Amino acid sequence: MIGHGYDSHRFAPGRRLVLGGVEIAHDEGLLGHSDADVLTHAIMDALLGAAGLGDIGHHFPDTDERWRDADSVALLREVVAMLARAGLEPVNVDATVVLERPKVGPHRDAIRARLAEALGLPAARVNVKATTAEGMGPIGRGEGAEAHAVALLRER
Ligand code: MG
Repeated sequence: MIGHGYDSHRFAPGRRLVLGGVEIAHDEGLLGHSDADVLTHAIMDALLGAAGLGDIGHHFPDTDERWRDADSVALLREVVAMLARAGLEPVNVDATVVLERPKVGPHRDAIRARLAEALGLPAARVNVKATTAEGMGPIGRGEGAEAHAVALLRER
C-alpha cells in the first residue's frame, strides 16, 4: 500500500523550528496548534493515507487541547501503533521539505535517525530531502515551509 502526504505551515516569530522531531536554531519557527513539525505531519498523512485511515486532522484535531504544542514525533508513534492495530507496518518513507531558510542539510542525519526510530525502520529506509522554492511564491518569500511525503506499507 502506498500513501501520499502534504503539509504546510507559516513562519512566525517567537516559535521553535522543529523539523522531523529535531529542533533547529533559527530566528523564527512554524506556527501551529502542535509543534507545527511540517515534515513529520506530511509523513503521518502519507502513512495514514496508505492505510486508508484518513488524515491527522481527523485523528489529532487542532480543536483538541490534548494536542496543543504536541510533540509531533509522539503523534507519529501513535500513527505507527494505529498501523500495527490494522496489521500494517512501514517499509520506507521518502519526504521533501521545501523552505528558503535555514539549511536543513546539516540536520538531515539527526532528522532521519529520529524519524526512523519512531517508525521502527533503519535510517536507510527514511529518506529526507530538502529544497528551496527558488524565491517563487509564498514559500520562496520565506513566509512558510511545506513538506511532501510518500510511504509504503506492508502487512505485518
Ligand atoms: Mg501540520
